[in-house]
Amino acid sequence: MWRTSRAARTASSRLPSATTNPCRALSHAAEEEALRYELAAAHLLQVRSPGGRLDDLVWNHLSARCPWAPEQFLVTPGSMLFDEIKPDDLVLAGGSTNVTATVIHSALYEARPDVMAVVHSHAPACMAVSCLKMGLQLLTQDGAGFYGKVGYHEWEGLSDSDDEKAALGRDLGAAPNHTLVMRNHGVAVVGGSIGQAWVRGYYLDRVCGVQIDCLPALLASPSAAVHPPDEVLSHAAAQVDTEFCHGKYEWGALLRSVAKETEAWPR
Ligand SMILES: [Zn+2]
Repeated sequence: MWRTSRAARTASSRLPSATTNPCRALSHAAEEEALRYELAAAHLLQVRSPGGRLDDLVWNHLSARCPWAPEQFLVTPGSMLFDEIKPDDLVLAGGSTNVTATVIHSALYEARPDVMAVVHSHAPACMAVSCLKMGLQLLTQDGAGFYGKVGYHEWEGLSDSDDEKAALGRDLGAAPNHTLVMRNHGVAVVGGSIGQAWVRGYYLDRVCGVQIDCLPALLASPSAAVHPPDEVLSHAAAQVDTEFCHGKYEWGALLRSVAKETEAWPR
C-alpha cells in the first residue's frame, strides 16, 4: 500500500534517485515507496509536458527496475490515463494489460543489467523521426547527449511476442547506448534512474522536434543545414555525460512542479 507522511514524501522527492542513491539506507518498504512515487510522478509529468506531447492516452509506458529484486520492474498498468495513475496503480512486470509493455521493457532490462528505468514514447516528433531513413540528426546542443548512443530497431508490428525481445536488446546495444529509435513506431530511452530516463526522453523529443522543423533544409541539399562537427559533438557529449548529466539538475525541480497534485494522492 501507498502510505507515507508529508515528511517522507518530501524526503523521497529530494533523493537524487530512488534507484541509484549510493548513500541510501532505506528499507525495502521505503525503497518501494520512493520508487512508486517517482514512477507515478513521471507518468503525471508526461501529461504535463508542453502541449501534452509526451502523452498518448494509455499507450506509452514507463518502468523502473526494483533494486530489491532486479529481475522485476514496476510498469504502467496499461488501461489508465497517465494522470489517473497513482503509486499503488503501478504493476509488476507481466501485470500490465498492455502486453507490449511487458515485451519491450523486459527485453531491455534483460539485455542491460545496468538499466534501472525505461521510458517508451510515441511523442509525435519522435514517431516522425522514426520514419526517416536519415535517422536521428543531432543538430543542436540538446542532441549532444545522444551522440554515439543511439540504436535502431525495425518495426515488426505490435510488440506482443517474446520472439522480438532478442532483437530489441541487441538493437539498443551495449552501454553507453541509451536510446532506441523504433522504426515506424516511436522511441525507448533507458537510464540509471527514473529521473534520468524521463529527462532523457524529454530532450530526445526536443531533438526530434528540431529535426522535423529543419527537415525542409535537410532535404534541400546536404549543405543547407549546419551540422556540428564530430569533434564538437564528442566534446559536448562528454560534458553531458558528466557535468550536465540528464536529470541531475532537472528531476528534483520536476518533482516539485507536481508536488501539489501528488499531495492529493491516496495515502
Ligand atoms: Zn509503443
